Amino acid sequence: KELGKNQWLQRVDAGVPKIYDSTSGKGNDVLLTLVRNSELTDMIDTIERFERSFNSKYHYQWWFMNDEEFTEEFKEQVSTRVSGGARFIKIPDEMWTYPGNIDKEKAAASREDYAKKKVMYGESESYRFMCRFNSGLFYKLDELRDIEYYWRIEPGVHFDCQITYDVFQYMRKNNKLYAFNMALQEDVRTIPSLWNTTMEFFQKTPQYIADKNNAKFVTDDDGSSYNLCHFWSNFEIANLRFYRSDAYEQYFQHLDNKGGFFYERWGDAPVHTLAASFMLPADSLHFVANTGYMHNPNQDCPVDEEVKQLLHCDCNSRKDFTWHKWSCVSKFFDVNNYPRPTSVANLKKYYP
Ligand code: GDP
Ligand code: MN
Repeated sequence: KELGKNQWLQRVDAGVPKIYDSTSGKGNDVLLTLVRNSELTDMIDTIERFERSFNSKYHYQWWFMNDEEFTEEFKEQVSTRVSGGARFIKIPDEMWTYPGNIDKEKAAASREDYAKKKVMYGESESYRFMCRFNSGLFYKLDELRDIEYYWRIEPGVHFDCQITYDVFQYMRKNNKLYAFNMALQEDVRTIPSLWNTTMEFFQKTPQYIADKNNAKFVTDDDGSSYNLCHFWSNFEIANLRFYRSDAYEQYFQHLDNKGGFFYERWGDAPVHTLAASFMLPADSLHFVANTGYMHNPNQDCPVDEEVKQLLHCDCNSRKDFTWHKWSCVSKFFDVNNYPRPTSVANLKKYYP
């Protein structure tokens, strides 16, 4: 029997033990980073900044994943700087390779083609393993079995404002399942067939399309085409129940069978965005405003002077990308009729 709209989501929630401590409100939530040994310097910089901005107040554990063994130096340098404890995870080889259906010669030919077209990371095989791992595998690691919310943080990023609330607890209390910061448009050459592949999936399984979803954020012509807007997943907080749901798993399998992670260069950002925008109610998405987030080449920096001072931001507002006309963040607020969290008065609508 088919499930009604949104019912699959309720089923995901039902029967999941409350693994968080009801007194402290803390659950099994972690900061999570995929990183190479060679990125140690950037990693240290990011840890020191993020501890200042957020984690020295909340002390979440910070877990690190790598497709190779971490070096002793990496583990030592990182462990001494993380206030909530660190854990190091070696990704099993079968999560960082080709699935059985992929024709490796065809994949290699495609990479050459992408290199000629000068698409970013077009020639890279490891980048494609990374995108596939982030799209459909990381949350299946044994080590993450009991984790509920995770916050993805990449080496080299900054948070240039103070984050003054516990974002994990905010999300848990307000039934938020997915949070983002930056949003922009994808290079269409990396995903020529992703939209049609996605539409094919939802035509087969319309029960997975949520009521009051965020679909208008990703299409400007009622579903004929993708407007390329995506949550920039180098910053991402999510409840892993979403990724572990039958709905998301079937979506990932559908994409993986098409081979676009290798024959094209599908990124985990548009994959997560399309899934979240169709499968989740829009009000379960959360925009994490005013963090001063910086991932090359884009910076978030509050434009409102009062907000900037309140949050002790150390960034240049003229460099703000969040509310720039090329950013997709305004569209998120417009299509959902949400007040923009750009002034202290409006912030109180979110955090009374
Ligand atoms: P970009 O953000 O799209 O420019 O891609 P990045 O180079 O920042 O990669 C995204 C994330 O995956 C970062 O956290 C990287 O450290 C990590 N990453 C990328 N490739 C590899 C890899 O081959 N091995 C490991 N361990 N991490 C990787
Ligand atoms: Mn990056």
